[in-house]
Amino acid sequence: MNAPVAPARPAARHTAPLHLLTKGIVAVGAAVSMGCGPLASARVEGIAPAPRAAIAAFDGRRPAVRAEGERGSSGAADLWRGSGRVRILEPRNPAHREMAKALVPFATAIDKSMELRGELAFSVADCEGGSPFYHPASQTIVVCEDAMTAVGRLFAGRRSEAELSTGAQEFILLHELGHALIHIQQLPVVGREEDAADQFAVHYSLGRESGGLVRVLAAAEFFGAMSDRSGFVSDREAAGEHATPRQRMFNLRCWAYGASPSRLEWVVTDGLLPESRAARCPTEVAALDRAWSALLRGTVR
Ligand SMILES: [Zn+2]
Repeated sequence: MNAPVAPARPAARHTAPLHLLTKGIVAVGAAVSMGCGPLASARVEGIAPAPRAAIAAFDGRRPAVRAEGERGSSGAADLWRGSGRVRILEPRNPAHREMAKALVPFATAIDKSMELRGELAFSVADCEGGSPFYHPASQTIVVCEDAMTAVGRLFAGRRSEAELSTGAQEFILLHELGHALIHIQQLPVVGREEDAADQFAVHYSLGRESGGLVRVLAAAEFFGAMSDRSGFVSDREAAGEHATPRQRMFNLRCWAYGASPSRLEWVVTDGLLPESRAARCPTEVAALDRAWSALLRGTVR
């Protein structure tokens, strides 16, 4: 991972003035318009199933019952533990320590800003080509070191490489956090949970004072690159629980554009989002923001 997710307060509204780094938006815009660079092999959430071996490694764990100074019942030591219920497990592979440490600011932001009903752990692991996933039984977000590194490589050589790769990695983490919140906080979800998790990541991102739009656009490019790679939608993919990568790409472009149509007019004029969809995007993103704000009442401090 190139950089951790910066601390953020998800309570903020996307309707508030977004103090965006115009330079960043323009740079990512230019990178987006350039089309795809060479693709590294990447397997992420929704592209490949979570690996059985990695899931099995967590199946024996239960969420730790927090007590001061006590180890979790998972038996894993903590690399980091917040004052609330968020912790990062010590990786089994020492080579994963750097990525685990890079999660600290993100975990700190969650720990400080959210009142969780149960413990949430992060674990960095090798998923052997599988996707990052949330493991409900142990209430653990498994951050696949290999997949996240592959995401970072995906944009190699493209303009704004760092913004694109960091943004996509952060979005994936937030998507998994969305699953975790739905489970731990027992949030009601209508429609597909996978869509709700994407919408949470957008809600969280657009509430930031800066950089949120760049992150959503970077994630859109990531899904676009994935769809370019797979070429067509197989029955297996169409029958899956996720929207297709191409649909997720357009959804994310729509919601970013909808949050700031004047700033992101180029998304439509450059042909990255059909006008027919764009017209509805401000309403769409306002609705998802309203829904997640309501869902997180009682969770966000
Ligand atoms: Zn998911």
